Amino acid sequence: MNNKNCHKFRKKKLPGDEHKRNVCEVCGYIDYKSPQVVAGSIVTYKNKFLLCKRAIHPGHGLWTLPSGFLESNESVEAGAKREAKEEACINIKIQKLFGIYSIKKRNIIQVIFLSNISTSFCKPGIESLDVKLFNYKEIPWRELAFPSVKWALKRFNDYKMGKKLPFMAED
Ligand SMILES: [Zn+2]
Repeated sequence: MNNKNCHKFRKKKLPGDEHKRNVCEVCGYIDYKSPQVVAGSIVTYKNKFLLCKRAIHPGHGLWTLPSGFLESNESVEAGAKREAKEEACINIKIQKLFGIYSIKKRNIIQVIFLSNISTSFCKPGIESLDVKLFNYKEIPWRELAFPSVKWALKRFNDYKMGKKLPFMAED
């Protein structure tokens, strides 16, 4: 149970646990602070990649992959599809799982799919200032919002050249 109105947290070490947790003295709820999952995708159309210019912080005005936090009880694929729809007004087709990126300082696990769209139609949703299809050479490397975006795009290019780069990375 997680009734936020009752919580009065106290740090406690529970039996068999190595870390101290915030435990509610009223209802016993344990606030584990586990990482949150962000689902996103590299979206390709022919030889291009779709990127979204963020209208929200962090990374306002910078380019990113369509991605965002999962909702409760949502599958990771459904989350990736929903975010692509919300941010770029596109219906993506997921091809495969492409990588896992851990952002330790923000307590986030990012799951990145490889997907494609069947037409070049896209337009900014409310969380985007702009959306655009880029050739690899046109990617605005210095205006990417997060290290994970750079990693995913570089890894995709290398993957297409037949290089086997690690499936996982972190910052
Ligand atoms: Zn409580």
